Amino acid sequence: MINTTDVLIIGGGFAGVSTAQKLAENGIKTILVDKKDYFEVTFANLRNLTDPNKTKNRARKRYQDFLKSDFIQTSVEQLDDHQALLANGEVVKFKRVIIASGTSYPSMTVAKTLTALNLEQRNQEFASQNDALQAADSILVMGGGVVGVELAGEIAFSFPDKKVTLSHSGNVLLEGFKTKAQRKAKEQLMQQGVTIEFNRKYQKQDDVYLDKSSGKVSTFDLVFEAIGVKPNNQFLQTHLSDILNAQGYIKIDNKFRVLGHTNLFALGDIAEVGEAKLGYLAKQQGAHLGKVICAELAGKPTKAYKTNPLMALIPTGQESGIMQFPFAVTTANFLVNIKQKDLFINKIYKEFGTQPNTQ
Ligand SMILES: Cc1cc2nc3c(=O)[nH]c(=O)nc-3n(C[C@H](O)[C@H](O)[C@H](O)COP(=O)(O)OP(=O)(O)OC[C@H]3O[C@@H](n4cnc5c(N)ncnc54)[C@H](O)[C@@H]3O)c2cc1C
Repeated sequence: MINTTDVLIIGGGFAGVSTAQKLAENGIKTILVDKKDYFEVTFANLRNLTDPNKTKNRARKRYQDFLKSDFIQTSVEQLDDHQALLANGEVVKFKRVIIASGTSYPSMTVAKTLTALNLEQRNQEFASQNDALQAADSILVMGGGVVGVELAGEIAFSFPDKKVTLSHSGNVLLEGFKTKAQRKAKEQLMQQGVTIEFNRKYQKQDDVYLDKSSGKVSTFDLVFEAIGVKPNNQFLQTHLSDILNAQGYIKIDNKFRVLGHTNLFALGDIAEVGEAKLGYLAKQQGAHLGKVICAELAGKPTKAYKTNPLMALIPTGQESGIMQFPFAVTTANFLVNIKQKDLFINKIYKEFGTQPNTQ
C-alpha cells in the first residue's frame, strides 16, 4: 500500500508528538509513524520502577487516544528524500519529513523500551522489573549522568535496606552541570546510603563484574546500565548516511532543516540542536518546528529557534533533588517538589491537549 501525505513524522516521542499536534491542529495532512502504540513520559519511569503505586501506569497513553494526526504503528526501515519504506510493507510518500527517532539505551529497558511495542507489554515490563528489584539485595547502577543519579536515588529512597552502588567512569557526577549541582547530587545520594565509585568501568565476566583498570571484582544481584545511549538512525544508513555527524546525530540548521536538504527536518534527541537532550526541550522544539512549517506553507517568514542554557530538575528520591537554573543551583524543597508531585505527567499531557490515563 502507498500512503501520501504533506508531512511524515518518524518517531512519537516528545519531539514527534509535539510537532504532530501542532501541524494537525493547523489542518496539515500529517502521518506519524512509531514502532510502539503508546507515548511515554520518560520522566516518570524510574519512580514507576521503584514505587509503582505512586505513578501507577499514568505515564503512558496510546497514540490513538490523543494524537490529532494520522498514525501508523510500524518501524521505518529505510528513508530517502521523498519516501519511507515501512516494516509492514507499506510506503509513505511525503512532501516533507521530520525525523524525530530519538535515542535508545542498549540494555536498560526501564529507560526506553527495547521490545514492548504495546501498552500492556510495557506495563508488564515495569511490573517484572519491579519484581526483580524487590528480590535483589545488592544493586549496581552504572553511569553517573542524570538517569543514573536519579535511579540510584529512587532505589535508595524506596528500598533503604538494599545495598545500592552507583559507578561512574569519570570523577564527577552529572558531567556538564554546575559544580554545585554535581556536589549536591553526590551528598544527597551518600546521605541515603548510596556507595559511589568513580573512575570505574565495570564489565560483566561470567557471574561477576570486573573493573579492568583497578582490578576490582564485585557481584550484584541486579544491574542497571544507564550508559551507552545511541541515536536511532539505522533507517538512514542506506540513503542518507551523509546527514549524520561522527557520533551518528543529524546535522541541522537553526530551523531544524537537515543540512543540504530542503524537505528534511530533524529535532529532539536524534538531532544536533545545540542544547541538552531533554524531553521538555524536544517538546519545545516540536512546537517551534510546527510553527516554521505552518508559516512556510502559508508563504510567511519563519523564525530561527533559540537554544536554551542547561536547566534541569533531578529528583534523588521522593524527598530530595537538585534544580539547576541557568544562573544558580538549588535543593530547596519548595522548588524541587514542583516535580515530585507527579513528575510532570499531567503537565505534559495537558500540553498535548489531553490528560493521562486514569489507572
Ligand atoms: C529515565 C529517563 C528519565 C528522563 N527524565 C527526563 C526529565 O525529567 N526531563 C526531561 O526533560 N527529559 C528527561 N529525559 C530525557 C527525555 O526522555 C528525552 O530527551 C526525550 O525522550 C527525547 O525525545 P525525542 O522525541 O527526541 O525521542 P524519544 O523519546 O527517544 O522518541 C523517539 C521515538 O521514535 C520511535 N522510533 C525510533 N526509531 C524508529 C523507527 N525506525 N521507526 C518508527 N519509530 C521509531 C521510538 O519508538 C520512540 O517512540 C529522561 C530520559 C530517561 C530515559
